[in-house]
Amino acid sequence: MSFQTVGVVGAGTMGHGIAHVSAQAGFQVVLFDVTRAAAQAGLSKIEKNLTIGVEKKKVTPEARAEALARIRVTEALADLAGCQLVIEAAPEKLALKQELFRNLSGLCAADAVLATNTSSLSLTEIAAAATNPQRVVGLHFFNPVHLMKLLEVVRALQTSDETVERVRAYGAAIGKQLIVVKDSPGFASSRLGVALGLEATRMLEEGVASAEDIDQAMKLGYGHPMGPLELGDLVGLDVRLAIAEYLYAETGSPTFRPPQLLKKLVRAGKLGKKTGEGFYRY
Ligand code: NAD
Repeated sequence: MSFQTVGVVGAGTMGHGIAHVSAQAGFQVVLFDVTRAAAQAGLSKIEKNLTIGVEKKKVTPEARAEALARIRVTEALADLAGCQLVIEAAPEKLALKQELFRNLSGLCAADAVLATNTSSLSLTEIAAAATNPQRVVGLHFFNPVHLMKLLEVVRALQTSDETVERVRAYGAAIGKQLIVVKDSPGFASSRLGVALGLEATRMLEEGVASAEDIDQAMKLGYGHPMGPLELGDLVGLDVRLAIAEYLYAETGSPTFRPPQLLKKLVRAGKLGKKTGEGFYRY
């Protein structure tokens, strides 16, 4: 059965982007956040990004209006009951995600697919909190969601083939390129991306080179569109620290030991672009 209505839990950096691409692809969208103001702020960002799309002639004014008309914002989790696919993009905390999956399994139909946008947490552990865990899957989007092509599908130990096929169809409908990986710490993308970002942070800490030059090394020498430090600022240094702590605890590998500089920036509230300062000032 294909999806008609997609629920999105959390209207932050990722959630609003997921709601945006889903609505633009023709799905009805229910965008939930814990307060109406947060959900509304997510919708405002979608409006802004669609306006930019119209200005750049990538989106027609009609398509913009239609996409926005498909999105309903709510602060009541019960409003997700009718969704055939729910994608959770709440903060990267296992206990919080498990509680959400417990609640969503009670709310939604038994065959509704419950997906998480976690960057690194164990899919198998999140699925274990749900009833019918075979319908739980990872849908790992990339920031900014409406521009990045990759969608990493993560299979929990419990995920059924049918669930993977259903989300493949959704991924194709929203125009993403899919990779399918099994549940393992950091999956494919975060494991490699975070390792690079942490090593770049250690190099900055050691004074090997400036942030600009470390980023240039990857951009000009390796063809990366963004340097690892710039990317950290975009993702959010708090998000990056949480992933590093988790990967370090899971694997014990020194590759993922969080550098002091990263911890200090987060403790000082310098979380990157969203707070106006991280490795760079904005
Ligand atoms: P964010 O902080 O920008 O947004 C999180 C949103 O969740 C906020 O709007 C917050 O109000 C809301 N929220 C808080 N408690 C909630 C609850 N109990 N139920 C529902 N919503 C709640 O975070 P983000 O960067 O969008 O990250 C969300 C998820 O996506 C995380 O799991 C993160 O690891 C993952 N992720 C992030 C990125 C990135 O680049 N930022 C990339 C890929 C995946």
